[in-house]
Amino acid sequence: MIFGTSLPVNTTAARLDASDARTTAREAKTEVEQLSASVERLMLLTEALWQLVKERTECTDDDLIQRIHDIDLEDGKLDGRKSKTPPRPCPHCQRILSKHRALCLFCGKPVDLLPFER
Ligand SMILES: [Zn+2]
Repeated sequence: MIFGTSLPVNTTAARLDASDARTTAREAKTEVEQLSASVERLMLLTEALWQLVKERTECTDDDLIQRIHDIDLEDGKLDGRKSKTPPRPCPHCQRILSKHRALCLFCGKPVDLLPFER
């Protein structure tokens, strides 16, 4: 090691690391802001849909609350969330399907996507 050359190199490396960290933090903040806006939009959409359902059907808020409870409990835990959908086999070749794909990766045949698959 040559004395006196490591400090500037380390300083430059540290500045680059700090710059990368600021960029990463800025990107993460932007992503969080976009996700927050998406969640707010979904909440607005859900509320509008629920108001339409109530106006046009016999469903009540108690019905909605009961249904939320029932769906929450499908995995046996009342925790305010729904667990991930378990893997399911291809109806054609019986191999395990990849989620969110319209075609089986193994046999190539089309499969129905589940609307609320997680
Ligand atoms: Zn298949």
